[in-house]
Amino acid sequence: MKKSVFNTLSPFSNVLTSSIYQNISGKKLIFPFYHSVAFEPLLHIESLYKTRTPKEFKSDLDYLSKQFNSIEPQKAFQIYKDKQQPQKPSFLLSFDDGLSGFYHHEAPLLLEKGIPALIFLNTAFIDNKDLFYRYKASLLINHLKENPETIRLINVFFADNGIVKKDVFEALLSIKYTNKDLLDKAAKICDYSFKEFLETKKPYLSTEHINELSKKGFLFGAHSIDHPKYSEISIDEQIKQTQISVETVKNKFNQPLSLFAFPFTDSGVSINFFDECFNENRPLADFTFGGAGLKNEQYNRHIQRIPMEGIGVSGKNIIKTEYLYFLAKSVFGKNSIKR
Ligand SMILES: [Zn+2]
Repeated sequence: MKKSVFNTLSPFSNVLTSSIYQNISGKKLIFPFYHSVAFEPLLHIESLYKTRTPKEFKSDLDYLSKQFNSIEPQKAFQIYKDKQQPQKPSFLLSFDDGLSGFYHHEAPLLLEKGIPALIFLNTAFIDNKDLFYRYKASLLINHLKENPETIRLINVFFADNGIVKKDVFEALLSIKYTNKDLLDKAAKICDYSFKEFLETKKPYLSTEHINELSKKGFLFGAHSIDHPKYSEISIDEQIKQTQISVETVKNKFNQPLSLFAFPFTDSGVSINFFDECFNENRPLADFTFGGAGLKNEQYNRHIQRIPMEGIGVSGKNIIKTEYLYFLAKSVFGKNSIKR
């Protein structure tokens, strides 16, 4: 879907300048987001999606800083909540999954340029206590590519559990949150240790990192406990994952706001969840975040962000195409998310 939009619209994206888009669309506040920049090999992400190279990330920051102002989070939230637009086009960055590369690489760059950012944490993974199940799949794919002698065994194991795909890699990528224990069992069969990966590579931010980054002005929010796809779990489980993770991040790291970014996507999340989330008497979060791109939202406390990864296109073209897509859809009244 996204690909076809790029294919059809990208020839035009060089014609107009960003400021024209910002003015025509009336959308002057954007929220681009990332996970991690590949300053070093990221085996846990490698088989899942394309990350930004340091060069691409720096060029994204240059483009954003030239065409937009960076904005303080609290100011951006107030403007969004009041359904206003900032005087000048502005951007607020965020980073999902709480990865330690942010502390070592992205944060120093952002501090140098004075660019604020939000970081969303999975509470079960802070301090490298556990690993996101999709990262486990990526690591096993890498391990099996290097040690193909155990592929046959893993294929038999998956077949025994009703998983028959084109190959073992597709089988690993098909594992969902609800059967994620199969990844732990598969790791045992091929003698791979996630614990050792966590202990040696330390892919996640530590409590010390988070406290230090927080003192330097970065804001932290929650990204659920252990990254389920919300459309695949019950509403009770959605509420539990949200409430516990938001409270943990806010209290443990003394954050001024309760922020929550949906793991994977907010697509398929019901109105009932949002009603519960923004319940006036006992809201689960002050602001929540999706990743559906430049869209209008019916809730003035739910913010859609622009994914900046997954494709080998410059940040400039991603943002311009989001604007074009938004404008094209507005012609048909389709740029608002309906639930
Ligand atoms: Zn995530």
